[in-house]
Amino acid sequence: MTEPTAPGRPEDLPPLRDVIARLSLRAKKSFGQNFLLDLNLTQRIAGAAGSLKGVNVIEIGPGPGGLTRALMMQGAERIYAVERDFRCIDAINEISRAYENRVQIIEADALDINLADICPAPRIIVANLPYNVATPLLIKWLKNIAEIDGMTLMFQKEVADRLTALPRTKAYGRLSVMSQWLCHVRQEFNVAKEAFTPPPKVTSTVVTLMPRKQPLAPATWSALEKVTAAAFNQRRKMLRASLKSFNFDFDALAIKETARAEELSIEDFCRLARELPG
Ligand code: SAM
Repeated sequence: MTEPTAPGRPEDLPPLRDVIARLSLRAKKSFGQNFLLDLNLTQRIAGAAGSLKGVNVIEIGPGPGGLTRALMMQGAERIYAVERDFRCIDAINEISRAYENRVQIIEADALDINLADICPAPRIIVANLPYNVATPLLIKWLKNIAEIDGMTLMFQKEVADRLTALPRTKAYGRLSVMSQWLCHVRQEFNVAKEAFTPPPKVTSTVVTLMPRKQPLAPATWSALEKVTAAAFNQRRKMLRASLKSFNFDFDALAIKETARAEELSIEDFCRLARELPG
């Protein structure tokens, strides 16, 4: 909870490097910490999130607060910043004081919290995600997509490529199907390793995921997950082998049993998923 204290002013906030030095915020690998200190860049990420008017912004892992500052500058009315590393709390409270206590820090593991418990809808998530938990976090949010009105997230480029991949490409897989089934997914721009402190090993990409009004085709999450897991876990095999245990009547479903997983559209996978009991 942010303690209401004497107000500061945005223009008086110290440079992020000074904050990091003052709080001895040496980046911890175990927390996936790669900080962004360039406000032009964090403003570009905040800009990709679109209008922040009338929405609650949930930021995962604010760290020293580079993106938090940019989101406030971009007009965020309220930010709920979920951070696991207690060393960052003072930095975020300082930003909050400069903005009429409109940033609330929540000291928690983002994997353990329910978004609906944090703040009322509409909610958007904006984050430079810790790479070690980026995919599990996204899966958790996709499973609860009704609680989310938009996501602007930084991933490793390789993950971003999987999120936006189309059928018949190498990157097309379970993550492509599950995310595009529920969301319009778009890569915004790449961010070079050198932009981070410390630099990670790979290029990063900002991705927006806008929930569809309806999933692309009817299916349940668990059935679609089962079918895509079986198909892509043996992606080189023909469907008649990789999906053998399901006993699908491929002809009736107008799907070639000799096809491989990467040749199926999301609608094809949903058609298969609807055949599963219960
Ligand atoms: N937003 C900051 C920036 O752009 O400079 C920091 C981004 S850094 C890549 C990821 C942040 O997520 C770190 O501050 C880290 O402590 C935090 N973090 C890591 N795992 C987390 C978790 N499970 N729940 C909440 N925050 C987490």
